[in-house]
This record gives sequence, structure tokens and C-alpha cells, in this order.
Amino acid sequence: MNCLEERILKDGIVKEGNVLKVDSFLNHQMDIDLFNKMSKEWKKRFEGKNITKILTIEASGIGIACVAAQYFGVPVVFAKKAKSINLEGEMYTAEVESFTHKNKNQVIVSKKFLNENDHVLLIDDFLANGCALLGLIQIVQAAGATVEGIGIAVEKGFQSGGRIIRNLGYQLESLAIVEEMDWQTGEIIFREQ
Ligand code: 5GP
Repeated sequence: MNCLEERILKDGIVKEGNVLKVDSFLNHQMDIDLFNKMSKEWKKRFEGKNITKILTIEASGIGIACVAAQYFGVPVVFAKKAKSINLEGEMYTAEVESFTHKNKNQVIVSKKFLNENDHVLLIDDFLANGCALLGLIQIVQAAGATVEGIGIAVEKGFQSGGRIIRNLGYQLESLAIVEEMDWQTGEIIFREQ
């Protein structure tokens, strides 16, 4: 069991509706020592890849991406959630449905910060149905850049995102894959990796 899995068992809370709450260490209060360990693991798993940029999505991915960026020695760009629907021209845009908030957001990245020479590592805190990642992939493709890999902290393996992303052929490295969780008993079972 790795340190993220151990921490999830210790401090994660299973909520009704397939939501795992990890806000005491991952996406509200942030344990930077843990982020460093996670980042070292991604660095190892993506060894030999030519990565020029990390792309994440606001808000919860940003902290993790910034720590990871120190190991890859590259800038971080985060896709911003935008209200306006009229954002063509200077921006790459994608529509992303939020798993936790159940609403749709346009996410945008300025054309200044992503281009066809970029080799991108996508980083996010959670993978559920894959909407957030598919939006980021769409943005990378619109820029003519290359997705070199995807680093996720917690994948919920009982939802469809992991299968969709792996079937598309991407190297997806999730540090903890939750196979089952039960909000009534609080039990969490991880996939062996
Ligand atoms: P997806 O787009 O893959 O359905 O969901 C991924 C996004 O939803 C992540 O960026 C994350 O912020 C949020 N999310 C999905 N599932 C969970 C969960 O169980 N707990 C928390 N805290 N966030 C989640």
C-alpha cells in the first residue's frame, strides 16, 4: 500500500453519491509532504518522457500540479472555468461537466500558453467519469500539442473514466485506484497495482 492509499484509509471520508472526501489533505487543506511523495512517483512513472508543460484544471488540481512541476522542471497552466460562452479567438475552450457540482462549465486556456511544440502532462486530483480529462485532452489537441501522459491522484475505478481514457491509448498513472467504497460502512478497497 502506498502513502496516498494509507492516507485515504486514515483520513478519507466516503459520502453518499460516490463521493470520497479528502479535503483534510488533498483538495482543501493540502499536505505538501504527501504531494512531494506523489510527485516523485509520477516522475518515476513518466521517466524518459519529454514533458514541456503541466496542464491541470481549477481549482483542486492546481496545488498538486505545482508541486509536480518542481520535479519536471516545467511551467503549470491551469484551465480556467469561465462563465461566458463567447470566448473564441484567443482561447482554447472545452465544455466540462462537473462530477461534484453537477453543472457544466466552459473551461478556457489562452492560446499564448499552449502550442504545437508542447508535450503535456495532465494532472488532476480525481478521475471519476472522465469529463474533466476529456476536456483537457480536447484543449491540448486544439493547440496541436501532444498529451505525453496523465497523472491522477485518486481514480474511482468503479466509474467509467479510467476505462475510457486507457482505451484512448493514453498512459494514465493513478496513484490510488478505489475499486469499491461504501458510505454506510466507510469501507474502501483499492485495486492492486
Ligand atoms: P470527472 O470529470 O472525471 O467525472 O470528475 C473529475 C473531477 O470531479 C475532479 O476534477 C474532481 O475535482 C471532482 N471529483 C470527482 N469525484 C470526486 C470525489 O469523489 N471527491 C472529490 N473530492 N472530488 C471529486
